[in-house]
Amino acid sequence: MTTIADQLQHVRARMAQACAQAGRDPATVRLLAVSKTFGADAVQAAAAAGQTTFGENYVQEGVDKVLALRAAGVDGLEWHCIGPLQSNKTRPVAEHFDWVHTIDRLKIAQRLSEQRPADLPPLQVCVQVNVDGGANKSGVTLAELPELARAVAALPRLRLRGLMCIPEPAPDFAAACEVFGRARTALAQLQQAGLALDTLSMGMSDDLEAAIASGSTLVRVGSAIFGRRSYAAG
Ligand SMILES: *Cc1c(COP(=O)(O)O)cnc(C)c1O
Repeated sequence: MTTIADQLQHVRARMAQACAQAGRDPATVRLLAVSKTFGADAVQAAAAAGQTTFGENYVQEGVDKVLALRAAGVDGLEWHCIGPLQSNKTRPVAEHFDWVHTIDRLKIAQRLSEQRPADLPPLQVCVQVNVDGGANKSGVTLAELPELARAVAALPRLRLRGLMCIPEPAPDFAAACEVFGRARTALAQLQQAGLALDTLSMGMSDDLEAAIASGSTLVRVGSAIFGRRSYAAG
């Protein structure tokens, strides 16, 4: 039987291989284990195998797991909210998560900043960019990005770390790299404009190699670690 520990090891090997091929230091790419739809037991198994960073899409499900793992005595985990956020759901995110990847409106960022408890470090955030122009997709356009990034970076209880994107599956490796490369270019432009950013959240189970070749610093991997999800997830 393939265990979560085996799958994690396999994903880490893929990441190391992709880094070697791209001439990158493997320490520059982190693995976010996307545990949405899987139970606290699965997170605990991954944590026992050395995984400390977890991504959740649904606010209530994520908060339940944060509390369950804490109750189980598993400390030191870092929780990332990677699902679309509605403004009436920001408070539990501000109170229980360490990162949010899906900032695409100033209003959401303002609420998160206001609601971030004073005894916690600033919430680490990424702006989500729509790099392939899908009409009904979340994320700001590259044209809208500089203004939003600047405004988010100025909020007191948030720390803007970089960009996140979820492009459509590409027909081949080169096409995937071209699309991911747009996010890398956008990050470089923001850095040149004076923002201290260090994160490109991109790459999932099927395209992490192309993402790493294109500068990803944080790959978000679900099914390759935990197996197939049993209900359609956003
Ligand atoms: C579900 C999800 C992932 C993980 O996808 P896999 O294909 O299972 O690796 C990554 N990022 C986001 C935003 C997701 O919603």
